[in-house]
Amino acid sequence: MLNSTLIERIEVTPDLLILRVKPDAGVPDFKPGQYVALGLMGVAPRCIGAEPEVETPAADKLIKRAYSIGSSPTQREYLEFYVAVVPTGTLTTRLAALKVGDRLFTQPKVTGTFTLDGIERARNLVLVSTGTGLAPFMSMVRTGDVWAPKRRVTVIHGVRFPEDFAYSDELRSYQKRDLDLRYLPIASRAGDDYTGYKGRIQRLFDEGLVSPDPENDSVLLCGNPAMIEDMERHLVSRGFVVHSKKTPGNLHVEKYW
Ligand SMILES: Cc1cc2nc3c(=O)[nH]c(=O)nc-3n(C[C@H](O)[C@H](O)[C@H](O)COP(=O)(O)OP(=O)(O)OC[C@H]3O[C@@H](n4cnc5c(N)ncnc54)[C@H](O)[C@@H]3O)c2cc1C
Repeated sequence: MLNSTLIERIEVTPDLLILRVKPDAGVPDFKPGQYVALGLMGVAPRCIGAEPEVETPAADKLIKRAYSIGSSPTQREYLEFYVAVVPTGTLTTRLAALKVGDRLFTQPKVTGTFTLDGIERARNLVLVSTGTGLAPFMSMVRTGDVWAPKRRVTVIHGVRFPEDFAYSDELRSYQKRDLDLRYLPIASRAGDDYTGYKGRIQRLFDEGLVSPDPENDSVLLCGNPAMIEDMERHLVSRGFVVHSKKTPGNLHVEKYW
């Protein structure tokens, strides 16, 4: 049942992990923005610092949860995931206890419609995330076909503390290349000595630092439901339409819980 191996584990902070996983069957085909389920058996140990779980799973039960793929489909060695460890969580406290070489389950079938399919290449992209909601956007910016000529891509990443800005060096490195990428990290609980943007993501829109226009821009929101609900209200009041299969729109949403 465990069909893949953890080949690299990067601790951004003790609660934020980048996990690189090699499926035995090879990296499946997928589109940036899609996700797979990862899983471990109930018997797997939990990490140090884990708090009591709401319900202890049976030892022989496979615990599965969805995770956005952060790597590009062109990366054929591994799938990368960006995982927040929830102290009372059932799976993340077990994932956090994994060491390089340990085995885990990776659902062979990749799913999800939070992709750039159907978004015209002439449209600019505003990619708005909180916490690990940055993962699908990393997959997108790491993949060449996102970079349509004249397309401006804005990546907004909201976190609590400045040390939570995973991937900031990589995102800044794209700005040094010939790519039209604007990266706006914002920390809600930064100290007084922090000189970057402070507060909630909404602030960047209220203060006009980001003012997407429904005619030319598509906005994608990913992560924490409170941010998504706030931003959805704000953008719909400015003429954006939430995208669905039935009603194509320019506002795409992926809620993590
Ligand atoms: C389509 C999709 C893609 C997802 N991709 C990712 C991803 O790339 N990275 C990731 O970390 N999570 C992601 N999640 C959330 C993930 O599936 C789990 O819910 C999460 O890891 C918690 O699992 P758990 O078993 O430890 O917690 P559970 O015991 O199931 O407890 C769930 C609770 O944990 C909290 N929680 C869930 N997700 C997060 C989070 N990301 N940050 C902080 N608190 C959280 C919420 O309060 C939620 O009610 C995604 C969810 C969906 C639906």
